[in-house]
Parts: sequence; C-alpha cells; structure tokens
Amino acid sequence: MRHFAVVGSGPAGFYTAEALEKAFGENARIDILDRYPVPYGLIRFGVAPDHQSLKAVSKRYDKVTESPGVDFIGNVTIGSDVSVDELLGLYDAVILAIGAPHDRKLGIPGEDLPGVVGSAEFVGWYNGHPDFADLDPPLGGTHAAVIGNGNVALDCARILSKTQDEFGGSDIVGHALGALDQSSIRTVTILGRRGPHQIAMTPKELAELGHLAEASPVVDAADFPPAEADDALEPGQRKSINILRDFAATPADSKPKRMVFDFFARPVRIEGDGRAEHIVVERTELDENGAARGTGEEYEVPASLIVSAIGYASPHIEGVPYDERGGKFANEGGRIADRLFAVGWARRGPTGTIGTNRPDGYEVAELVASEMPAGSSGDREGAVGLKRLLAERGVMATDYDDWHKIEEVEVGRARPGSPREKFVRVEDWLKTLGR
Ligand code: NAP
Repeated sequence: MRHFAVVGSGPAGFYTAEALEKAFGENARIDILDRYPVPYGLIRFGVAPDHQSLKAVSKRYDKVTESPGVDFIGNVTIGSDVSVDELLGLYDAVILAIGAPHDRKLGIPGEDLPGVVGSAEFVGWYNGHPDFADLDPPLGGTHAAVIGNGNVALDCARILSKTQDEFGGSDIVGHALGALDQSSIRTVTILGRRGPHQIAMTPKELAELGHLAEASPVVDAADFPPAEADDALEPGQRKSINILRDFAATPADSKPKRMVFDFFARPVRIEGDGRAEHIVVERTELDENGAARGTGEEYEVPASLIVSAIGYASPHIEGVPYDERGGKFANEGGRIADRLFAVGWARRGPTGTIGTNRPDGYEVAELVASEMPAGSSGDREGAVGLKRLLAERGVMATDYDDWHKIEEVEVGRARPGSPREKFVRVEDWLKTLGR
C-alpha cells in the first residue's frame, strides 16, 4: 500500500488526487489535507461569488472524495501543525498543492497606507475567507482604483460596481454584500501599465462589464493601435480587443457608475493624509520588446480604495526550496526533492484557469507514479500516523463527515432569494461540529 498526502484542496489538489487514484487504484490511500475545516481553496475563496457556474466544478471534486481510497483531513496547517519532514516520514509522497494565496507587492511608496489592499485580501473579504473577514475596505469615497489588467482586476472592478440585486444567486458573504450596498463608489479606474493589446483579460469576463445594471465601461479610443494591428493577435485576444473597441465606440449612457480603463498608466506612488487619497501614475509607452517605458509625464488618479491585482505568490514553507522570482516552490517539472512534489500554482506560478490544473495534476501524478510504480509498496503509516500526531498536539482535524455537516448547516442558514450565508471564522466552523 502507498500513502500519499496532497496538501491543499483547491483545483490542483483535487485533480492530483483524482489522477493518483486512477493511477494506483486500490494500492493507494490518498489524503487531501487543508488548512481550513472545509475544502475547495480557490473555488471557495478565490472564484468570484457571482460566477457560480465556475464554482460548480466543486461537484466534480466531491466525487473524488467519495471514492474509498481518498480522504479529506481539514483544519491542519502544514508548516505549523505538522512539518513537511514529518509528513514525508508518514507518507510515500507529499504533493504541495497550496496555490498562491499571497499578494505580490507593488514596491512603490505609499502601498502600506490604509485604503490600499491586495486583491487576495479584497477577494478573500467578499468570499468569506477567515483571514480577511475583518478587512473592512473603505467604500465611503466616490473613487476607487484597481491596479492590473488581468481577470482578477476585472473581478474586483465588477464586484465594486454591481447592485445588490445583481448578486442574487451568488454566494457573496453577507458582510460584503451589506457593505457594498452602502458603498458610495461611483468611479472605478482600472489601471494598466501597458496598452489594450497587452491585457490579460479574457473575452467572457470582459464582456460582462457591458451588461451591468448601473455601471458602464469607459474606454478611450485613442489608446488603441490602428485596427489592422489586431490581425496579428491570437483569436481569443482579438475577441477581447474587439470588446474593448466596442466599449470605446459606445456613447456615454446615463448609468450612475463608471469603470474607466486607464491604459499606459504605471503606478509610481500612493499619496494621502494618513490614508490613500490618490495614486500617482506615469504615462508609459511600449518599448521595442513590448514592455512599459515611462515617458516622465505623471498625473494623479483619485482613489480612497486601491486594490492591487497584480498577481500572487505561494507562501514559504520551512525547509522547502523557493523560487522568489516565480513566487512558487523551486521545482523541476513538479519535483521539488525526493518524494516531495508541487502542483498547480505552487508549481507553475499564478497563471492559468481552473481547467489548467487538470493536466497539471495528471502530469504530476504520472511523475509520482514513475518514481513508485503501481504494485510496489511502502511501509509508511499514512493517515493513522498523522491523526495520532495531530491528536497528541491538540489539533482538531476535520474529516469528510465534518465537512459535509458544515456544508449542510451553511445551506440550511440561507434565506430564500439571498446569498448563502457562509461561515467566515474557523471557530464558527468548529462550533458547528460541537468542538
Ligand atoms: P494576471 O493574469 O497575471 O494579470 C496580472 C496583471 O497585473 C497584468 O495585467 C500585469 O501587467 C499587471 N501587473 C503586474 N505587475 C504589475 C505592476 N508592478 N504594476 C502594474 N501592473 C502590474 O493575474 P491575475 O489577474 O491575478 O490572474 C491570475 C490567473 O487567474 C490568470 O491566469 C487569470 O486568467 C486567472 N483568473 C481567471 C478568472 C476567470 O476565468 N474568470 C478569474 C480570475 C482569475 P503586465 O502584463 O504588464 O505584466
């Protein structure tokens, strides 16, 4: 029998468990570990609450844990409750699927001023992540700015611009829904350090901005290169640019809110009297390599809330080699060290959709299998040893039944027609279980 620990229960973790289960069948026990009492990682805490069709992928993940060889062990933090070395002593292989939950820093003066938040914090706040339940982002001003031209920037701008009714059917957390409903923000400026052709936004997500009840996208036609230049773009990107061009060609409407695309604008510093009041940006142009080159011209963009959506990084774990530049574990094709692997964003860095993690998980499972072929066996204890260790340390691990009990209670708390009321504190999750 082989014992595998997959650390992290987001998409990468579940796809890897699924692939290991397929590769080893009855010859393996796979434990999916998570820091929180309930699983899903990015699906629960990262994917936008108004994108329920994306979140529905978790149903597929449920099936993985329903198979007899796969188990869930929650409320266990690797690195503090139990070390990677200890896990390697208990399991034949340890696969780190912990994602990239930390915000990359802007590295500009003023980024620590109150009012400046990272997208992981902001997204975590509206998605009920326990670490960010108390974020209380300032929504009392009229102007906000979102830095970055990726899909996360779009998520943040859209959530800031939607009405309460538009969150029907979502699972936005109650504290965020209430605060957003009281928000005075009327203009969200989306800052891109390069131009429309360089955006990292995808067409479906971009098109959504054209259909909001009270907010309109504003794009300056002068930011585009000549239309012929679009021919060289790959089809998906061309579609996105067409949507932006349509936004630019649409006359101003009477909707009260604006989502303003400010291209060629590089953040220089954030200023304000004890808190963010505006961000100073430098006008840029593209250099011969397509990178942003400053022109020396600076101007201020008013914003009392600034969300920096410029990408993520995996956390460090003691004893695990780390690639600082990539914001991920140092690895070769998923292999970090003997019997230690990384998968998903922890392996590749924070790019790609949920679906990208499927081939990634299968590839890493294949790598594991190549090092310990199916049919071979190890002599490690797996979950039995882990649970003993956790009990000795007073760690209240949760299991499959606990997770489903929490789910049941959460669903039962939902009022008809309003978003599901998720628990946002680990204590509340555990209290639900009578602990
Ligand atoms: P991303 O796609 O890598 O975009 C990051 C953006 O930040 C880029 O526009 C980048 O500009 C900009 N940026 C980086 N450093 C900057 C700096 N110092 N100053 C100003 N701008 C800076 O990352 P993401 O938006 O966090 O998304 C992560 C992944 O999740 C992506 O693959 C995304 O597609 C995916 N995602 C998908 C969905 C969905 O499908 N609905 C939703 C959310 C996220 P440069 O290009 O100039 O570097």
